Amino acid sequence: MSKGFLLVLSGPSGSGKGTVSQALLKKRKDIKFSISATTRKPRPNEVNGENYFFLSEEEFKSMQEKGEFLESAFVHANYYGTPKQFVLDEIEKGEIVLLEIDVQGALQIKKNYKEAVFIFLLPPTMDELKNRIIKRGTETEEDINRRFANAFKELDFVGEYDFFVVNDKVENAVKDIEAIIHSEKLRVKRHKDIKLNVLKQGGK
Ligand code: 5GP
Repeated sequence: MSKGFLLVLSGPSGSGKGTVSQALLKKRKDIKFSISATTRKPRPNEVNGENYFFLSEEEFKSMQEKGEFLESAFVHANYYGTPKQFVLDEIEKGEIVLLEIDVQGALQIKKNYKEAVFIFLLPPTMDELKNRIIKRGTETEEDINRRFANAFKELDFVGEYDFFVVNDKVENAVKDIEAIIHSEKLRVKRHKDIKLNVLKQGGK
């Protein structure tokens, strides 16, 4: 059996991480989604415990102090963090765990989890990125501008990632991510006893 691994998906606000992740998870029951904790207020369509664990700043800080996050960061004026236990349990079971996190969080994971796979999701153009943030209609004008300005800063970190995927069409982005997962599963270092397993197949 191949070992489980972390699949880290980052990309600027409006690159479509949420949509692509949901489409990927719908198609691939073998991928587990890590539900992040955040102090951001829920958007109208978001459900606590499904999209995020929505916490007060006090609750978030308390988890942080107890070392219950795999990584955490302050993004667009709110705190976000990956609860540790779920991820470690799933990896132990051999599962692929999807983390949809920002570049600061990805860099923390990169330091501590050498075997994670890092994918950066790009919009087809920056104009399209801004359109998508505006079209979502859930952010204030101040927040839209902050998210758009942060997008340029986040792009500086694309060189830290293993792969990039352009999200022009969601189904194509999902296919690209599946291709990455497929190759990662075939990595020799992710398997133990390849020779032994081949020999077990017998043959004359
Ligand atoms: P949003 O508010 O649009 O849901 O997310 C804002 C940003 O926070 C996105 O870049 C998203 O990937 C990132 N984010 C979501 N959860 C986490 C997390 O657990 N850790 C970190 N570092 N970033 C996160």
